Amino acid sequence: MGVMYSSTRNQKEKLTASQAILKGLADDGGLFVPDSIPALDVSIDALAKMSYQETAYEVMKLFLSDFTEAELKDCIRRAYDSKFDTEEIAPLVQADGAYYLELFHGATIAFKDMALSILPHLLTTAAKKNQVENDIVILTATSGDTGKAALAGFAGVEGTKIIVFYPKNGVSPIQEKQMVTQKGSNTFVVGINGNFDEAQTGVKQMFSDKELAKELAQAGYQFSSANSINIGRLVPQIVYYVYAYAKLYENGAIGRDEKINVVVPTGNFGNILAAFYAKNMGLPIGKLICASNENKVLFDFFRTGAYDRNRAFILTSSPSMDILISSNLERLIYWISGNDAEKNAQLMKALSETGKYEITGEMRAQLDGFYGNYADEAETAQEIARLYADTGYVIDTHTAVASGVYRKYRKETGDEETKTVIASTASPFKFTRSVLNAIDPKYDSMTDFELADELSRIGNVAVPRAIEEIRNAPVVHDTVCEAGEMQATVKRFLGI
Ligand SMILES: *Cc1c(COP(=O)(O)O)cnc(C)c1O
Repeated sequence: MGVMYSSTRNQKEKLTASQAILKGLADDGGLFVPDSIPALDVSIDALAKMSYQETAYEVMKLFLSDFTEAELKDCIRRAYDSKFDTEEIAPLVQADGAYYLELFHGATIAFKDMALSILPHLLTTAAKKNQVENDIVILTATSGDTGKAALAGFAGVEGTKIIVFYPKNGVSPIQEKQMVTQKGSNTFVVGINGNFDEAQTGVKQMFSDKELAKELAQAGYQFSSANSINIGRLVPQIVYYVYAYAKLYENGAIGRDEKINVVVPTGNFGNILAAFYAKNMGLPIGKLICASNENKVLFDFFRTGAYDRNRAFILTSSPSMDILISSNLERLIYWISGNDAEKNAQLMKALSETGKYEITGEMRAQLDGFYGNYADEAETAQEIARLYADTGYVIDTHTAVASGVYRKYRKETGDEETKTVIASTASPFKFTRSVLNAIDPKYDSMTDFELADELSRIGNVAVPRAIEEIRNAPVVHDTVCEAGEMQATVKRFLGI
């Protein structure tokens, strides 16, 4: 019997991987977790010779145990193809004594592509396996980035449609251009006259509308979500840690069984949790270094054992980490409680009712594999400028938070020896203005595309295809509606 999944808040129900992917979130509001973490069953010497796709198969087959070999390999082949601008998929770049694992070579030049390129295929395969005949309709409300990554992932995937709502005046011009130029006859993008909360509320209402679900089913459709807590997004993220380790070993940077540290710029705690799972599969990882921006809830949590979201929300130059509730942390809480769903459910209840909870000393003792710290706005900008001045390598703001925290870690612990992988979660071309302003304030007056050309010149890297595309691509989505008209708009798109 392979790995089965149950909710972090209730262990009674056991689901297969494909059922957990289809369902996304458990009925009790909990997250699906594997009942055990499988051990890697290939040698490091074998892994060292593998491509990204081969590594992905070796890792994912252990978690997605009800997928056949042919099914899983097919999903992997469709996901990690020429949408990525390098055959390595996730290359490692050595700079200033650390290894930057570039997770931004996919369609939207940020790390969400690593999971969102495969999720649509996992989802449609899971549907077939569970005799779901309906086409899957993905509904998403976005404040910018996730919408585009989901659109790019689902575009052209047979048996799916994707409808994305965004606040018409609440995203950046580049983000809007990225979405409204999205190709694919199964993609729909709608600006709403309202804010992100209204878009999200509208989507949630549609998800819970039984009458609408019935109408959809009659027309051969059902809703699903591409939510970041789906196990189908978490599992693909484990792959690149195994891959990075194997590449370091192959290149002779590390010896057999040598431990590495991993630094992750963290928001929702998904990426670093994947590294934690990799460690528990047997990958020799020393410290998991959790890097936060000024929204440093996680730093405080690792220092005190108390999680407290009651604080001001700060807008930073690393917006994908501006988060006060890190949803995926629940999976770690469940783990350190000794898989005690009842205990975890109590803490999550406290979080939703009071905005905070505190873990026991026993639970805290199990967090010693983690180190948490944060970088403020000035430190983040300084790190971009310093690394560029010292090495010529340009990193984005999120990666700079991680890089800055790694410096603090070394200073605080004296651990200079351990080889360290820093997850590089976005291309600097995605946050050009903040990145170039950090290097030199003179850039402030340039337009976004001028900035991209300038970054290409000073960093000596080509402007990524994702940017070139929006520079030239025609607008193909121009629907705008009121917040109250979202449901009617969905029906119109689906012809019901
Ligand atoms: C989503 C995101 C993060 C945070 O990742 P989590 O898995 O939510 O912790 C960091 N950097 C970038 C660029 C992102 O898009």
